[in-house]
Amino acid sequence: SAGTLDKNTTIDLRKKHVGPSCKIFFSHDPIKIVRAKGQYMYDEKGQRYLDCINNVAHVGHCHPDVVKAGAQQMEQLNTNSRFLHDNLVLYAQKLQATLPSKLSVCYFVNSGSEANDLALRLAWQYTGHKDIITLENAYHGHVSSLIDISPYKFHQLSDAEHNPSVHVAPSPDVYRGKYRADHPDPATAYADEVKNIIEKVDKKGGKIAAFIAESLQSCGGQVIPPVGYFQQVAKHVREAGGVFIADEVQVGFGRVGSHFWAFQLQGDDFVPDIVTMGKPIGNGHPMSCVVTTTEVAEAFMSTGMEYFNTFGGNPVSCAIGLAVLDVIVKDDLQGNAVRVGRYLVSQLEKQKEKHSLIGDIRERKMTEMFFLRLKEQHILLSADGPHRNVLKFKPPMCFSAEDVDEVVQKIDHILTGTQITLSLYSHRRHHFLICEMFKENGHQRDAGFVQSRAHGPQHTKQGKRVKT
Ligand code: PMP
Repeated sequence: SAGTLDKNTTIDLRKKHVGPSCKIFFSHDPIKIVRAKGQYMYDEKGQRYLDCINNVAHVGHCHPDVVKAGAQQMEQLNTNSRFLHDNLVLYAQKLQATLPSKLSVCYFVNSGSEANDLALRLAWQYTGHKDIITLENAYHGHVSSLIDISPYKFHQLSDAEHNPSVHVAPSPDVYRGKYRADHPDPATAYADEVKNIIEKVDKKGGKIAAFIAESLQSCGGQVIPPVGYFQQVAKHVREAGGVFIADEVQVGFGRVGSHFWAFQLQGDDFVPDIVTMGKPIGNGHPMSCVVTTTEVAEAFMSTGMEYFNTFGGNPVSCAIGLAVLDVIVKDDLQGNAVRVGRYLVSQLEKQKEKHSLIGDIRERKMTEMFFLRLKEQHILLSADGPHRNVLKFKPPMCFSAEDVDEVVQKIDHILTGTQITLSLYSHRRHHFLICEMFKENGHQRDAGFVQSRAHGPQHTKQGKRVKT
């Protein structure tokens, strides 16, 4: 359908009745999408857009198996989880089979924020401690408890508004961070930063309840931690009596290609104490989950307080979740992520060689212009990271080689046509259907920064790198 309202009416009604802090893409000329299929979205005029931003529509927009599973269950029954239902237990069993055996107890909730908020409660209850360590630039959700642990959001607040029990560790970014690829052991160096925080907190009489991180920082700028970092952090945190929470809300469910969970990129010897999931889990249906160990779950039970969640784990959500897991396997979407992701990286590498890098596109405005030009070409892409300069590919997992050709050809065209050159940077081996582009100086790792929020002592306030 073309939608029932004309576009201007939709815009006017939205302005009138929807909170102004709820942002819209391309606010000067928003897009009205009326239907979608696979990796394509269609506006009210039937124009097609290539979707490189909807990681939530994980197995493809409106995948018929998922739609059917939800519709059939809606026809039969939807109710809360205080009744026995096979969908709930079958889904928990199937989800558990993707995880290390130790992670065996599920709590079903409805959004990534709910999952992370519950994860914090589990950690507080299990450890009896209060302090939380989070990573620089992290985002974990929109509820109060999570804004407190999300530097991505709270850097906008005043110091007085910071929760004193929250401590921020450097992002383990070996490209732009405090310790880089030329460091002999960045995993240990970054983990030692966490250890130092634990010691400082201890001196002040605090106690660590949890370390929380995305298994691969997404909003924080697509940062893949060096292998061994999580193992060492977990050791320090557990020695202090805390737990390790892995936020897989954005990066889980096979998106990294080689593994089902992004934390598995660290190796089989790493198992978090709590894993949170969301976004792709229901292919757009609002559902999410927290998985933990029996020890943590029993400690949570020992309070005697019931955990009840009206919608969490309802038969419709579980039917949809089951269908998503089936489609990931049936359509070999992990394999596709590896193959197409590798191809995307190789095509972007060519762009990197072709467009020599210049320094005057460091303004955020230039990145915005780049996205506007792409939108005119019917490609939907977005940027993220602390400097909003990491181009983030997070398409539905059915993205194809032809789609790669289309998007890369259009990027090429824009870069060539406008004499703008962006540096394309995609060294991260495991990044398959998540790739990135930095506007960074040509000399890769030696590049100077223009951003004043560059980290570490090697940067001046203006962000210029100091020769050390
Ligand atoms: N964690 C991460 C890593 C996220 O990216 C998000 C959403 N962007 C959330 C948590 C919060 O999820 P939701 O918006 O579903 O509450």
